[in-house]
Amino acid sequence: MSNHLYKNLIGGEWVPARTGKTFLNVNPADSDDIVGEFPSSGAEDVDAAVTAAAIAWQTWRLVPAPKRAEILYRTGEILTQRKEQYAREMTREMGKVLSETRGDVQEAIDTAYYMAGEGRRLFGQTTPSELRSKFAMSVRMPVGVVGMIAPWNFPMAIPSWKLFPALVCGNTCVIKPAEDTPLSTFNLVQSLMDAGLPPGVVNIVTGFGPDAGAPIVSHPGVRAISFTGSSEVGRMVGQTAAGNFKPCSLEMGGKNAMIVLEDANIDLALDGALWGAFGTTGQRCTATSRILLHKKIAAEFTEKLVARADALKVGNGLDEAVQMGPQINQQQIETSIRYCGIAQKEGAKLLTGGSPLEDGTFDKGHFFAPTVFAGVKPGMRIAREEVFGPVVALIECTDFDEAIEAANSIQYGLSTALYSRDVNKAFRAIRDLEAGITYVNAPTIGAEVHLPFGGVKQTGNGHREGGTGALDFYTTWKSVYVDYSDKLQRAQIDTGE
Ligand code: ADP
Repeated sequence: MSNHLYKNLIGGEWVPARTGKTFLNVNPADSDDIVGEFPSSGAEDVDAAVTAAAIAWQTWRLVPAPKRAEILYRTGEILTQRKEQYAREMTREMGKVLSETRGDVQEAIDTAYYMAGEGRRLFGQTTPSELRSKFAMSVRMPVGVVGMIAPWNFPMAIPSWKLFPALVCGNTCVIKPAEDTPLSTFNLVQSLMDAGLPPGVVNIVTGFGPDAGAPIVSHPGVRAISFTGSSEVGRMVGQTAAGNFKPCSLEMGGKNAMIVLEDANIDLALDGALWGAFGTTGQRCTATSRILLHKKIAAEFTEKLVARADALKVGNGLDEAVQMGPQINQQQIETSIRYCGIAQKEGAKLLTGGSPLEDGTFDKGHFFAPTVFAGVKPGMRIAREEVFGPVVALIECTDFDEAIEAANSIQYGLSTALYSRDVNKAFRAIRDLEAGITYVNAPTIGAEVHLPFGGVKQTGNGHREGGTGALDFYTTWKSVYVDYSDKLQRAQIDTGE
């Protein structure tokens, strides 16, 4: 059977890459299952997409925001109708289990409705002028053509966080999905088109980072960049954008700590740890990758966590009984192997897992065993560096203050969690944990779309996705002064009557 050949979307037309090259999108659970063949694009394709987006912007920016929003409402309805189909296709291209890919589509639906509501808000301010007969206000203006570069772990949710606020604000877009998961972006954009999105407002260019992503960042016609991915690439993207003074939103790594105190509900904390560490096969930027255990409960917690990790059913995410899918590709498997080696060399104790699963049903996919390390010290690399796999590090602490200090001792600051029934400690943790997100009695994963999403320190560069943070990125403020006095009035100078 020949592969379905997808094309780039440029100015409303489906066109092959000018490079003439393509790449295969392969199911990470089953190398026999080819999801599709996609264009491997280059700078010329990006240039054509940016030109189309710039033309479309001239009319899209003038469409009233409530009308732009109507397209998002319809997109939400279309995604709801197609949720099951899109979830299945996402499991095939990304690997995570069906309940999670349904959640991923649902997140795009939630974002569609939330951002559609903004069509009738997009509030600015009115404020008194210091001068008589003068009116002062600020309004949100679109930025123009926005470039978007997405990762593979939330193949539809993350593109929706970028596209929907950008669109309601009146921008046009060029998006490059991750090379491992382009289909979910196609499904998302197809839904927008079926909802009535005009040609050229969203353009898709698929391909690899250096060939198809880098030209988006450096293109002079792209006015702002939204990037989610690794810190290494984020640093390059940020540096290139800075050279042209381009606004650039970077969302990158995490090494997210869960603190479990001696008074915690241990079974609840275990449920959270299992979900936080092994959900999405540990491949979330918010994954629970460090668990800081109070010494009084450490032994009990560790024993139960290992038993539950061992009992997880790993396999093809299309099987409803499976609880943890594969890693995205062989490179990620190698990263997990490498970090397991590093952890053991550093003196951490491997309690379970630590290697790929290769036999029998696993032989055609990129599977890795749920892995738990104990005896980890906060300074070890396994406690400081992101693995992005099903690997969790357990660190014992003597008290609350030591746990907070350990949690804060890394370069990242995305998500954190505290399990305790002590309300005073909970509020101190909310105050003192250096992170963009803190959960109390819930794991480090589980963001909702109407709250700001992002981190401090080297997780990001201060921008937020989700909530009103996204509106701040996809608009620029214009201050407007209307003088109806019919005479020249000079601010700061004409201070009298
Ligand atoms: P991950 O480790 O999650 O794959 P990456 O940072 O490598 O993270 O990839 C995230 C996104 O960035 C992908 O869409 C990828 O193609 C893109 N990308 C990779 N390298 C570059 C680059 N040099 N310039 C722009 N985008 C890139």
